[in-house]
Amino acid sequence: MRVSTTTSSRSDSRVFTVVVQGYGTALTRNAERTINVPFSRLQALMQSISQLGGKVLSVSAASDAPAPAAAKPAPEATKQAPVKKQAAPVSHAAVPVNLYKPKSPFIGTVTENYSLLGDGAIGRVNHITFDLKGGDPQLHYVEGQSIGIIPDGEDANGKPHKLRLYSIASTRHGDNLAGDTVSLCVRQLQYEKEGETINGVCSTFLCDIEPGAKVKITGPVGKEMLLPEDEDANVIMLATGTGIAPMRTYLRRMFEPSEREKNGWNFKGKAWLFMGAPTTANLLYDDDFNRYESEFPENFRYTKAISREQQNAKGGRMYIQDRVSENADEIFAMIENPKTHVYMCGLRGMEPGIDEAMSAAAAAKGLDWSELRPQLKKAERWHVETY
Ligand code: NAP
Repeated sequence: MRVSTTTSSRSDSRVFTVVVQGYGTALTRNAERTINVPFSRLQALMQSISQLGGKVLSVSAASDAPAPAAAKPAPEATKQAPVKKQAAPVSHAAVPVNLYKPKSPFIGTVTENYSLLGDGAIGRVNHITFDLKGGDPQLHYVEGQSIGIIPDGEDANGKPHKLRLYSIASTRHGDNLAGDTVSLCVRQLQYEKEGETINGVCSTFLCDIEPGAKVKITGPVGKEMLLPEDEDANVIMLATGTGIAPMRTYLRRMFEPSEREKNGWNFKGKAWLFMGAPTTANLLYDDDFNRYESEFPENFRYTKAISREQQNAKGGRMYIQDRVSENADEIFAMIENPKTHVYMCGLRGMEPGIDEAMSAAAAAKGLDWSELRPQLKKAERWHVETY
């Protein structure tokens, strides 16, 4: 299938109209469809139609007469560049990094440590806050960063424990808005080995810790999960379990009234959180997110995948990628907007399913997700921190 772009030496802002048969979802497959596509996506659409066995009836540049479908392509038509990079979408300039290193950590004081789980939840997940006052330099951070914790005690070889990184769950102003605390959201790691239950060293240390205790803290680190500064940005968040930590910071920054007053950042875009948890009792910060959704219905949408209570279309556990799949066209339409950023945090296992859902949505528009995703990443709009 060749495409005529007879005046293609002009700028690429033109839109082309493609009339096609035998292309699309099962329902629309036999119908004749008219697809308008920008020049930059024309070639990709042609490839997709050809791969899926569709027949192109005509291609015409908007306001031009229809061109015969078998004319020669212009060289420019082979490019696919639908992802635009905004000027500096995420500012890295004032982001603090490694103010405290493992050899001389900051000693923080625990101010609170409470469970985030409801009755009947699986496991232990706690919200733990540390006082950062008194450091020189002052330990500070921004939304989307992580800190290191060095647990007390020694490993099996008698050496001090190594640090573990945790995503920060509080905004730069801290939960008390005084700018001198940091909070974490920590699940106690537990696994079975040779019939014995093994508890994670650092996560158990943190979940058991009492207010007043001193803790060695390093960092902050990380520039992958920073929020754009644009108040009109759209933010899609995909989190499983404690991967909610950075999303809580974004959502507090966007919607928590006292935090908004403090930060002066008047978020006006659309935020959409997809949260995966095994049971309703395991949903983290759920009351806050429900409140944001009722107070900011135009700006915030909250979609839950409760794996052991809900079923996906195939009758299996409802995972976050199933919710992405259900909403793929809408998500994809948002991603086409250069102001949209996607953040993913939590289990690495969700990534292939999310790619699959996005591939299907992209293909329906004649685009190739395996080419688009790296472009989104390069444009600093696709942010992933998964373990
Ligand atoms: P959790 O409460 O156990 O919830 C995880 C949810 O994800 C459950 O509903 C689980 O379903 C589901 N799930 C399991 N396999 C999945 C898959 N392949 N795809 C999609 N969903 C899947 O979570 P958690 O123990 O807190 O774990 C969160 C993970 O995030 C941990 O691995 C943690 O290390 C990581 N994490 C990473 C960061 C980071 O990268 N910065 C920060 C925080 C946490 P079922 O169990 O019902 O199958």
